[in-house]
Amino acid sequence: MNDRTALVTGANKGIGKHIARLLTAEGFRVYVGSRDAERGRRTVEQIGAGARLLVLDVTDPGSVAAAAARVDRLDVLVNNAGINVSLDPVAETGLEDFRRTYETNVFGVVAVTNAFLPALRRSPSPRIVNVSSGTASLTWSTSPNPQFTPGRGHAAAYRSSKAALNALTVLYALTLAEEGFKVNALAPGARATDLVPGAAAVGGDPAEAAQGAVRLALLQDDGPTGAFFSWDGTPVPW
Ligand code: NDP
Repeated sequence: MNDRTALVTGANKGIGKHIARLLTAEGFRVYVGSRDAERGRRTVEQIGAGARLLVLDVTDPGSVAAAAARVDRLDVLVNNAGINVSLDPVAETGLEDFRRTYETNVFGVVAVTNAFLPALRRSPSPRIVNVSSGTASLTWSTSPNPQFTPGRGHAAAYRSSKAALNALTVLYALTLAEEGFKVNALAPGARATDLVPGAAAVGGDPAEAAQGAVRLALLQDDGPTGAFFSWDGTPVPW
């Protein structure tokens, strides 16, 4: 199929930009989601043929509705846009940091997914990839960043938001399974991006993480759904 279409939210930089680039190389027509039109346009120019701009702020209902109205059919939705505004442990995290984080990482994903469901339902094999985090795992402690090891309770707003995203991944998978959807969560690993100011030094190549998203975007009809995978395809415990 040569007319497959994908949307990557937050694709103007970081891991999302690499996902958009790789999906374009796979032959997808890729909507580069960007809340800033100018920066999104630059990314589209850099990726080249196959990429097109979709102005989309996942926290703005008007922006989400306008973006969804522009897309008739969608084969792959990558919910990649995310923020991490605080590395504080739970007892020191203010509610405002929780609210801001959940607004993007949780409510934004629900808003975008629900708005694009009609377009996804027009695909013969719809796929949703939720870019989560290994730090959301309640049992996993292999992060190279000691701030994030589960026993220490740091980055509480971010990690709990991604745990909520994981729960939503399972709920969407259950709800949409009979319609042929595959809905999975990805732990990209610590990557050198702008996500946490000053933390880029501990991260690896974001392009490598993007391969994991593409693998989940290309799942066959007998592939898994409602699961959580590392970028290299290894299952991650919830
Ligand atoms: P970046 O900060 O480089 O990129 C985040 C992207 O999300 C940017 O394009 C940003 O846009 C976009 N974004 C943020 N808020 C919104 C919004 N309201 N609407 C639309 N877009 C928005 O970080 P990463 O590339 O590292 O992050 C990508 C995903 O990977 C996130 O979900 C993150 O949680 C996850 N992740 C990253 C890890 C890492 O080590 N880097 C590890 C684990 C998970 P703008 O440029 O306008 O701010």
